[in-house]
Amino acid sequence: MQRVRIRIKGIVQGVGFRPFVYSLAEKYSLRGFCLNDSEGVLIDVEGTDIDGFIGELKTRHPPLARIESLSVENLRPVRYSGFTIKESQTCSKSLPVIPPDTAICQDCLRELFTREDRRYLYPFINCTNCGPRYSIIEEVPYDRCNTTMRTFQMCKDCLEEYTNPADRRFHAQPNACWQCGPRVWLTDREGNTLCEDRDALQMAQTLLKEGAIVAVKGLGGFHLSCDAENHQAVRLLRQRKRRPTKPLAVMSCSIEMIKRYAMVNDTEERLLASPESPIVLLRKLPRSSLSALVAPDIDMFGVMLAYTPLHRLLTEGFTALVMTSGNLTDEPIAISNEEALNGLSAIADYFLLHNRPIHTRVDDSIVRTGKRGSLVIRRARGYTPRVVRMTVKGPELVAFGAEKKQSITLVTSGYAIMSQHIGELSTLKTLEFLRESLEKLKRLFSIEPTVVVHDMHPDYLTTRFAKEYAREHAIEQENIIAIQHHHAHIGSVMAEWGLEGEVVGVSFDGTGYGTDGCVWGGEFMVATRREFTREAHLLYIPMPGGEKVVQEPWRMAVSYLHALYGTGFDCYPEEFVRRVGERGINAMIKLIERRINSPLTSSAGRLFDAVASLTGLRDTASFEAEPAMILNSLAERTRDRGVYPFQIRENGTMEVDTLPMVDAIVEDVKRGVPPETVARRFHNTIVLMIVDVVDILCERTGIRDVALSGGVFQNMLVLEEVTERLERMGLGVYHNRAFPVNDGGLSLGQALIGLERVKKG
Ligand code: ZN
Ligand code: ZN
Ligand code: FE
Repeated sequence: MQRVRIRIKGIVQGVGFRPFVYSLAEKYSLRGFCLNDSEGVLIDVEGTDIDGFIGELKTRHPPLARIESLSVENLRPVRYSGFTIKESQTCSKSLPVIPPDTAICQDCLRELFTREDRRYLYPFINCTNCGPRYSIIEEVPYDRCNTTMRTFQMCKDCLEEYTNPADRRFHAQPNACWQCGPRVWLTDREGNTLCEDRDALQMAQTLLKEGAIVAVKGLGGFHLSCDAENHQAVRLLRQRKRRPTKPLAVMSCSIEMIKRYAMVNDTEERLLASPESPIVLLRKLPRSSLSALVAPDIDMFGVMLAYTPLHRLLTEGFTALVMTSGNLTDEPIAISNEEALNGLSAIADYFLLHNRPIHTRVDDSIVRTGKRGSLVIRRARGYTPRVVRMTVKGPELVAFGAEKKQSITLVTSGYAIMSQHIGELSTLKTLEFLRESLEKLKRLFSIEPTVVVHDMHPDYLTTRFAKEYAREHAIEQENIIAIQHHHAHIGSVMAEWGLEGEVVGVSFDGTGYGTDGCVWGGEFMVATRREFTREAHLLYIPMPGGEKVVQEPWRMAVSYLHALYGTGFDCYPEEFVRRVGERGINAMIKLIERRINSPLTSSAGRLFDAVASLTGLRDTASFEAEPAMILNSLAERTRDRGVYPFQIRENGTMEVDTLPMVDAIVEDVKRGVPPETVARRFHNTIVLMIVDVVDILCERTGIRDVALSGGVFQNMLVLEEVTERLERMGLGVYHNRAFPVNDGGLSLGQALIGLERVKKG
């Protein structure tokens, strides 16, 4: 007889760990107890086969659990009489465990389609290993009475499962069935109920088949749905949503279905079927039955595997359904039935509703994979609110991010908690969503920030909001910290990888306010967690019309052409002049020459825009980065190894002169070189620019670690090529993985730098 005390740390609460321990103890005939406390799970057992027990603890634990450490201490046997799960011991200082929403598990899926099961076709089936979590939690601790499931009284059968430690629904807080749980119904756009339960799902399917647009209430909000194979329906959805070209996500019921229209490798298959179940960006098959309007001009589809029982039932029988966020442009997604009926009735013909309230809106996450692993591009459902350990300790803090792909980060006792993706901060409703998210996270994690961090841009809504917040909460001036945009990008990499000391940082993205008042975005720096010095940047070039250039890339093309050839229109590509018109070009030149509303920029994103326009791909953009995405898609189609010329000039900070490259591109375009070849050569050149400048900086400073961040690195061609080459030079290369490389990850970097600055005092 042997007795041990086992301490397990990591993600072990709210994930079915104790029932697992219970059944394992039974299997090995062990006696004793286990409990949750502030440090994780504590097990105290005695018996004869302790080793076998520990072995299985480590290897067969529930899918959502992550064991960070497991320590064993030998004790004198005390002859326990049985095995029990003891009451949780909570310690006020510990960080509460708030599990993320989780995709339906295999066991529940099996029951869902078992005719004899009492939950046969029940759209809200769940268990300890799966189901809604973060989206339904109102208060901590995570108990049914603190979730939106509070109003549903469990029936006898459900309660029995819930209280039986040997059951796979032991303490499954959202546990429910046809008898006692949430229900689903279908309405027209006036809100009149047409039918309920299984009929509602069936009728929704029939209507979708006929080409209708249905608003579907899901896990973290509404989707707008239509049959992805129905060209008319997709066109109608685009028209009504006023979303001409931005790719629409699709959802299918099985991996086999997905393989009919997209290429899926093992990593991608694992991701699609993971508990997080994000939208995965997959390469399109050359010919597929999906409407070309799902993702026009781009070689990828954003695909989800149905992740709730409701979605699983709905997608059955379709190759794929379009499942795009149920929102109006730049507004947060709708979560309540009323919100949806009011806001989406001009878009959807029918509404598939249910009565399990969504407390917190969470969009679908987006992930893409590459040769070297996956990148989270949008961090929301399934990932939020997982915490990151910070290696700096400091006061409680909130970092407000930037303005696009907004997220906020809160810090407490050595942990950072990033909010879900909030969206584009251009409407009051998104600002309201930000405020709401901040208040909820503060409450759930009991954080009261005494330090506020924001972007250096004086006009960002978040900057104003941060200052207002500081005033309202009497936060001292010295604890309001502004951080340069691209330093924050590099900081986010340092936070994610726990990097200390100096790094060479490369931040290529669209827009960020520079310390000289110019619009930065093609930046090379030497950075620590506290400071940075700008060592090099792409050539400054005017942005005629300011931010307007984002929607009208042709303006940037004119700016480069003007820098190269002045008003000598005969040097401009003829095609370009014909498409854009001399009047437009003249107007831009006037702005540039008279320096009216033409701030200087070193943005790499704007360079992509200009090239996309010069090559005739896009003169206007219906969403940010559209030209860059199309350029990237084209470049992937060829392996041309050509490189355009450029120059690295030294004058204090280095300047990468991009004009020789644009000149060569214009030559290629005039000679009728195919756009994919130009696109590829352009990509090759961007890679070379980065590698050359980093080489110089590493040589000069002796630094061996390089951090890459900023929206341009969502471009796998650039990211992978740059990483490979720098690694071949013996450098350590780091970039964001679990956090967005775009502005969605910015608040994490701000939080880290903010902490360091306060520490310094
Ligand atoms: Zn389950
Ligand atoms: Zn029930
Ligand atoms: Fe950025």
